[in-house]
Amino acid sequence: MRFSPKNLWSVRSRDEIESFSKHYAKFMDMARTERMAIRESVAMLQEAGYVPIERFDGTTNKVYAVNRGKSLIAVHLVGKLENGLNLVAAHIDAPRLDLKPQPIFEEERIALARTHYYGGVKKYQWLSLPLELHGYVVKDTQEVVEIHLGQCKDDPVFVAPDLLPHLDKKDMLVSEKFDAEKLSVVVGTIPLGGEEKEAVKVYILKILKDRYGLTEEDFVSGEFELVPALKTRSVGFDESLLGAYGHDDRICGYTALRGLIDVKDPVRSCGVILFDREEIGSEGNAGAKANFYVAFLKKLLKIQGCSDTSLGIDELFARTSIISADVCPAIDPMFKEVHDLANAAKVGHGVGLVRYTGSGGKSGSSEAHAEFVAKVRGVLNQEGVVWQVATMGKVDRGGGGTVAKFLAEKGASVLDMGPALLGMHSPFELVSKADLYETYRAYKALLEKLN
Ligand code: MN
Ligand code: MN
Repeated sequence: MRFSPKNLWSVRSRDEIESFSKHYAKFMDMARTERMAIRESVAMLQEAGYVPIERFDGTTNKVYAVNRGKSLIAVHLVGKLENGLNLVAAHIDAPRLDLKPQPIFEEERIALARTHYYGGVKKYQWLSLPLELHGYVVKDTQEVVEIHLGQCKDDPVFVAPDLLPHLDKKDMLVSEKFDAEKLSVVVGTIPLGGEEKEAVKVYILKILKDRYGLTEEDFVSGEFELVPALKTRSVGFDESLLGAYGHDDRICGYTALRGLIDVKDPVRSCGVILFDREEIGSEGNAGAKANFYVAFLKKLLKIQGCSDTSLGIDELFARTSIISADVCPAIDPMFKEVHDLANAAKVGHGVGLVRYTGSGGKSGSSEAHAEFVAKVRGVLNQEGVVWQVATMGKVDRGGGGTVAKFLAEKGASVLDMGPALLGMHSPFELVSKADLYETYRAYKALLEKLN
């Protein structure tokens, strides 16, 4: 029998899809950085009755922990954790421009701020684009100063201006050989007190001091992120798509969390992990290579009376099923040649099931085993979730990785799954609203039913 995935618009009700996508759009317009995404997620969890591990005594069954404000794990407990659990793991970092530790300089009477891009970006896409600035600074006194500019209509935005086409001739074509050191955003042009050297920079530093109490040295311990000043919006005459900055991978973070919050009578414990740093290889103490979620699960084992948590955690992972929730590339009709069309995801045809990621000879991929793929497929079919096959492009074309392999290393069964995007990693990524909703349905069903 032939297998061909259904088009969701003929299966689901428009109202259901629209209502879900409106809530998601609100989340996306608030979750502009990894810290802000975690903040929004915690608010959702608390509203649903989840308590932080510091206040958890084992008498309730919903618990979470935030790691350094940048990643989190939440678990809905059903019985003993040694029996394993169903997890959906996503990442909430997204490609962007970060300010350097000493960003501000002046040249030709223009003050600018130097950036260092984060994650896989096509640099030219970030030129002449209005950018929001989100800063989180810890001063040497431990005082925290936050700056959020560009989210509101009347806020100023920041821009790294592109070179006019008239002067961008063949030998220095910006899109072909772009020097990342030139990705600096303009921060001001008014000199303070006339003709002195760096008078424009001096005025910017005065504004930062007067308005936020910040000195130039404070930037050293500040995290400043520039992200597109673009609101989430419907795309197309039929409004079937949703455009936003950061779908990769906050779309999976949000759908996973909503799935967890909405589970009814799960067959065993289930939970969600939101990681930072996936876009640069899951490094650091808030990424998927870090230990915080293992430590959290060990703590829960102990609270549940497990006497040997190092053995308990191994048993837990051996019995645990994890959906590595991340987006996949959708076939773009203008660039079909990069895909094997029979193994690529189509917009509006359901959540993409990605057996392996990696590149060239599946290098760097944990690849899900047949048994686990079958189990997942079984649950999705039983629950009437529309899914399709997805891969990371033609063999030897390129590829990509996710958090899957770091979770597989712990001994769990792991499969990659998520909605397909057009324009992934661009400042304004597109997703089908129907795929967004179906992804939520998939994660919720798997959290509830996998065993
Ligand atoms: Mn991703
Ligand atoms: Mn990505």
